[in-house]
Amino acid sequence: MKRALNFNAGPAALPEAVLAKAEKEMMNYQSLGMGVMELSHRSKEFEDINDRTNSLLRNLLSIPDDYEVLLLQGGASLQFSMVPMNLLEEGASASYVLTGTWSEKALKEAQKIGNAVIAASSKHGNYKSIPSLSEFDIPAGSSYLHITTNNTIYGTQWHTLPESLNIPLVADMSSDILSRPVNVSSFGLIYAGAQKNLGPSGVTVVIIRKDLLKRSKPELPSMLNYQVYSESKSLYNTPPTLSIYFLMLVLEWAEELGGVKQLEMMNKEKAALLYDVIDRSEGFYKGHAEKQSRSLMNITFTLDNEDLTSVFLREAEESGFIGLAGHRSVGGCRASTYNAVPLENIEKLADFMNYFRNRN
Ligand code: PMP
Repeated sequence: MKRALNFNAGPAALPEAVLAKAEKEMMNYQSLGMGVMELSHRSKEFEDINDRTNSLLRNLLSIPDDYEVLLLQGGASLQFSMVPMNLLEEGASASYVLTGTWSEKALKEAQKIGNAVIAASSKHGNYKSIPSLSEFDIPAGSSYLHITTNNTIYGTQWHTLPESLNIPLVADMSSDILSRPVNVSSFGLIYAGAQKNLGPSGVTVVIIRKDLLKRSKPELPSMLNYQVYSESKSLYNTPPTLSIYFLMLVLEWAEELGGVKQLEMMNKEKAALLYDVIDRSEGFYKGHAEKQSRSLMNITFTLDNEDLTSVFLREAEESGFIGLAGHRSVGGCRASTYNAVPLENIEKLADFMNYFRNRN
């Protein structure tokens, strides 16, 4: 079987080795005569999967002991609500940096919970860049500052993360978690849906500094309360067992590869190949993001007009490239080059882009 040249933005390509292992264990996990999704979530075997996933995440991301790792459901979108429900303090405000569609959505949900304000925004420049720290206007008494480290739709990424703020930094890392080392201690809370760099959809990772758990009030619905998940090792109710198992396999794969430093190196090499094609194309391909804010995960570009874009996308699809259309809100093209997208596939895309340009 030929595997697709998958550039989907998420759910996205998974490592072949992970799929092969899951296939092998599908009917008979650890000689139990059943697959992982048939196990009780209260069984010793699933508890081991849950614990191992937790410790792999801790090792790979060097998560300090004063942080809790939670595995939740509801996607990153539920975190847009859970973050303010749990962390926004009485009478205080929450500050948001707008860098694209997902941070706008995070702000909108927070405003339903309490007073959430814009600390900085790059909307006026069509989200081509990340605002610099000197532009931030964070009101005194903010409960936290929220950022989106990688903007999946616009193809921008924070390359210098705010450090030593005097309020907790909350980050949506859905589309770049595990793609590079980060200093977890400079964050109060990190969240990420799994379906880009971590596994299939269905599980959301939350990393929270333990002292912030005190902010979760008992009146909150249990399913929306970080403290409840923390006290039950994320087993308050039936978790997405299959997604967590896949997450464990992806983390094992990442560890075997050499961890986040190695992944970062590979991601830099992959992204450079495509940005190089764009930059050498004499304007045939135009990158959406400003150079200093370019994402290593989502490479966004446009062609001269819509007709040429349609021809590009059609011919790309005929050549086996999947998922290259830009998000409907931006248009153009986007190649998502997450951890599991192999270098060979990027090389093939770079060749195709050069070939298409030469013919047009
Ligand atoms: N944040 C970012 C940065 C995303 O890219 C996405 C999804 N593409 C979301 C949030 C929403 O994630 P979910 O669909 O898991 O709710």
